Amino acid sequence: MSENTFDATLDASLIGQSPEELGFDPDALRAKYRQERDKRIRPESTGQFIEVTGEFSHFAADPFAGARVERAPLEDEVEVVIVGAGHCGLLAAVRLMEAGVTDLRIIDGAADVGGTWYWNRYPGIRCDIESYTYMPLIEEIGTMPEEKYAAGAAIFENARKIAKKYDLYDKTCLQTHVEETRWDEAEKKWTVKTDRGDAMKARFLIMALGPLNRPKLPGIPGIQDFKGHAFHTSRWDYEYTGGDPSGDFNMHKLHDKRVGIIGTGCTGIQCAPRLAEHAQHLYVFQRTPSAVAARNNRPTDPDWASSLTPGWQERRSDNFNAILQGLPVDEDLVADGWTRNADIQKTLFSLGADASPQETAVLGELVDFQRMNEIRDRVDDIVEDEKTAAGLKAWYRLFCKRPSFSDNWLAMFNRPNVTLVDTKGRGVTSFNERGAVVDGAEYELDCVIFATGYEVGTDYSRRGQLEIHGRDGVRLSDHWSEHMKTLHGLMSHGFPNCFHMGVFIQNPLIGNFTALFTSQAQRIAQIVKAIKERDLRSIEPTAAAETDWVETVRQSNGDNLEFFVECTPGYYNAEGEPESGDGLFYEIFGGGMKLFDEITDKWFDEGMPGTHTE
Ligand code: NDP
Repeated sequence: MSENTFDATLDASLIGQSPEELGFDPDALRAKYRQERDKRIRPESTGQFIEVTGEFSHFAADPFAGARVERAPLEDEVEVVIVGAGHCGLLAAVRLMEAGVTDLRIIDGAADVGGTWYWNRYPGIRCDIESYTYMPLIEEIGTMPEEKYAAGAAIFENARKIAKKYDLYDKTCLQTHVEETRWDEAEKKWTVKTDRGDAMKARFLIMALGPLNRPKLPGIPGIQDFKGHAFHTSRWDYEYTGGDPSGDFNMHKLHDKRVGIIGTGCTGIQCAPRLAEHAQHLYVFQRTPSAVAARNNRPTDPDWASSLTPGWQERRSDNFNAILQGLPVDEDLVADGWTRNADIQKTLFSLGADASPQETAVLGELVDFQRMNEIRDRVDDIVEDEKTAAGLKAWYRLFCKRPSFSDNWLAMFNRPNVTLVDTKGRGVTSFNERGAVVDGAEYELDCVIFATGYEVGTDYSRRGQLEIHGRDGVRLSDHWSEHMKTLHGLMSHGFPNCFHMGVFIQNPLIGNFTALFTSQAQRIAQIVKAIKERDLRSIEPTAAAETDWVETVRQSNGDNLEFFVECTPGYYNAEGEPESGDGLFYEIFGGGMKLFDEITDKWFDEGMPGTHTE
């Protein structure tokens, strides 16, 4: 079995080789990719999905919360309000406290901290970024993940440990949804209103909502007619399936159930194999196959763990980030599917500094074809039924969708109780009260599970279910109605003392999100501390500085647009319409994390030019 070793020729000599020498025909592959892409383009693009409001609002309800804890409304004042208690919010709080800013409050709608890892407890959930770099502050907490790729429950527990270690629970309002924040220019303060009747004031506001926080449903006709049970993966219903998220997910109540799962992205491929172990029958409804490489999870080696010296996590994280950017390193400390994927980037550097954009593009495509061929070969190696194997092959470039890794997804299709329903790019045709219909064939189901992802590219207010009113009452969603506008992805003109956190907000793309969150938290803490030390009351970017940064971002990701236009639809490219500006990649600073850090370090050291302070 090929184990995703990626040992094919990786150098500039590929350019100019014949199809015979290459072992594949680039023109034929390009045509196949185009054909598969065109099948999937829908005129509705991002409008094809259903928002989880009104009759669908129960899909967003919290199944984990238990009884609501009552409390009196808060009308007091704190120095900093942080909206969101996921990794962003927790890291911001920790860095602020380390900077001496302790008068802070975190607010989150969930019943605990953890964000993504609070909500997503589906069976099989893991982070496919290795735990030693992904799980924040493990050295500070004095803990070591048990496995290279940690289970969701372990990551959730790590977030709880952070909150305990830094005494953040006392500073956190849980089960509290922020409805609006409003800047008071005379007072130079924010008022934060919540669904608990709170109207608290804060000098600084940190928006740490996360990029993938609002579940969405597929726009399949008749979806509301289905009379069986249905839920979204980010709100797993263990009451219905049996089992629980902390153990082995023993979903014993499914033994007599016909289960349908819709969606075969990173989430679908993680939870379907666990469903297959318990369901009477599992139907996997696939619109586009994922490119799934091996994960090779393993327990943490205790000898390796005890050999680590202080500062190891940051060094490892820096090493990982450098490799993913194609930067030279002495050693690949993480050595996994991600760092091997980064060989594509490294190969491009083998062309040398004088390479033309044309040469770089040609070689990039050739190496990509090689990678994808290996991933497609892996399907044949594992999946026994030829037709099923053919249906599971991904025909697009590796980074058109988020690469995924699994050791049990493909093997699952060899089970007699699993059926791949390959909709060949068209999706499920319709639902009726009994189940799903694809091309006239009806699949009777007891339960449908939507692994259909999250809202991306919709209005900030819609995704966050809140509104930010800046100076003169201007709404952030209006300020951003055409496109995002920020300085360094951190602040926006007209929204003083308000900081954004997260990914895909005019900052660099980075494989390990928590490394970016750590750097953002550090920067925000530096700025807040500096403002306080200078006895100032507010800071915001000038309109000119904001415009300059948007232009810098656009200039830096010009090539991305060309790449994503050719990609199969998905949330990366605004469902096939990257020019719309709604795709995530439109808002990426393409210069990489190292350059971004250099730019923003210099900016801070020079006294934050392009900002207005009072
Ligand atoms: P995605 O948006 O990536 O996938 C949604 C899936 O639903 C796709 O397979 C999509 O098909 C399918 N779908 C949508 N509409 C229909 C329809 N009408 N009929 C049939 N299928 C449909 O969501 P995920 O939750 O899988 O992943 C979201 C993100 O979460 C990831 O990209 C990643 O950033 C993060 N994640 C990270 C993990 C980790 O280990 N670090 C694990 C899991 C998620 P199509 O492709 O055709 O659009």
